[in-house]
Amino acid sequence: MKLVDAHCHFDFPRFDGHRASELEAALRSGVVGLVIPGVRRADWGRVQSAALAHNGLYYCLGIHPWYVSEHSTRDLEALEANLSARPERCIAIGECGLDRLHGDLAEQYPWFEAQIELALKLGFPLVIHSVKTHDEVHATLRRRNWSGKALLHGFSGSYQQASKLVDQGCFVGVGGVITHPRAHKTRETIARLPLESLVLETDAPDMAPEGIAAGYNSPAYLPRIFECLADIRCEQPEYLASVLFSNTAELYGRSLWQ
Ligand SMILES: [Zn+2]
Repeated sequence: MKLVDAHCHFDFPRFDGHRASELEAALRSGVVGLVIPGVRRADWGRVQSAALAHNGLYYCLGIHPWYVSEHSTRDLEALEANLSARPERCIAIGECGLDRLHGDLAEQYPWFEAQIELALKLGFPLVIHSVKTHDEVHATLRRRNWSGKALLHGFSGSYQQASKLVDQGCFVGVGGVITHPRAHKTRETIARLPLESLVLETDAPDMAPEGIAAGYNSPAYLPRIFECLADIRCEQPEYLASVLFSNTAELYGRSLWQ
């Protein structure tokens, strides 16, 4: 059984000094790859080196809505220049998006739209962060005539919101949220969505699954999310793993993990 962690902040300092052992633990439990998103220009170099240090690791470059105010248009130009060079193992733009609970939503919009444009122009998939803004994300993608593939990462929300985004070309990132019994709405949503729209992710070190301390999530816990998903959907684990694997490959690229 092969699992891929479609969104994991493996470059974060929390993993310093034990990246190799965390990866080994993940690999032992079937995790053959992970994708490291970029959140701010100051970290892009670190994201790239973390990905290049081990097999099966890929990365994205982008500007996260929490950090827009520390960037200028020069950083968007740098983003375009970086991506245009098609650096090895860089497979998507993100994470970018909108967050109603953090910072100024109006200020976040132009950064999200610029990264959508860039993804369309250069043909990269998009990794989207959305907190209490699913309808706005959907409307923005529509307005920009989004025609590519995207990951709505760390999803929590209603079936109606999720299925609109799926119709707009989004995969839905299934993370630790579903392991918490009180997350009724999200669990119900994930149970009903088409299987072909789901990918697995940890968002480690954040979004800890049930029983793990906040801030201590790790790609090695991906199987817990997977097992919970198999339970919620009443799917055969082997079949479920193979569909999720092929969804992740469909999102990021067919030849990344064999
Ligand atoms: Zn993230």
